[in-house]
Amino acid sequence: MGETETTGPVVRFEHVTKRYGDVAAVDGVSLEIAAGSFVALVGQSGSGKSTLLKTINRLIVPDEGHVLLDGGDVAAQEPHALRRSIGYVFQNIGLFPHMTVAENILIDRRIAGEAGGGDAGALLDMVELPRAFASRRPTELSGGQAQRVGVARALAGRPGLMLMDEPFGALDPLTRDTLGETYRRLHERLGMTTLM
Ligand code: ADP
Ligand code: MG
Repeated sequence: MGETETTGPVVRFEHVTKRYGDVAAVDGVSLEIAAGSFVALVGQSGSGKSTLLKTINRLIVPDEGHVLLDGGDVAAQEPHALRRSIGYVFQNIGLFPHMTVAENILIDRRIAGEAGGGDAGALLDMVELPRAFASRRPTELSGGQAQRVGVARALAGRPGLMLMDEPFGALDPLTRDTLGETYRRLHERLGMTTLM
């Protein structure tokens, strides 16, 4: 497209620790992730992947250490504003069944009080769903289509950073591969930093 520009932040973990009782879910993690990179955290179930991701958008507050975005400590940011600036996709994304696809995609923008709430059609284009899906209900979607809507919702705030916690884990392998490829192209085109 010739318009790619890196907009995603550098993500830096400094000695991040989170304990639950005697269990250290995350134990002294220090790591720097370059702006615009696509990084997958790999580990066994229970190894602390989800906990580490959630320290970035402050769903979890570390017992020790700091998380910095472009050098700024997330602890200094207002949590709701921080979360609006970060895309977050997880397994079984949880679309609201009584709302249309368009309303689901734009919900965070509406809550943020943005007039008009943004353009659902352009976001459907990004995740390669027909614009006609805007008026559908979540029950009228396949699992893969629903996750595409979840990705569109996460992109609605034009985040520089995307956190994806086993986003396609509930999908069959073929759907997972196709959606993974769609997302990878978006990551490159939008210049985001992605942690999966
Ligand atoms: P992963 O995402 O890699 O599967 P998690 O980050 O979910 O791992 O969990 C890491 C560890 O922390 C596990 O041992 C898990 O049981 C524990 N844990 C996670 N959340 C909680 C919680 N809310 N209360 C107690 N223990 C937790
Ligand atoms: Mg997990």
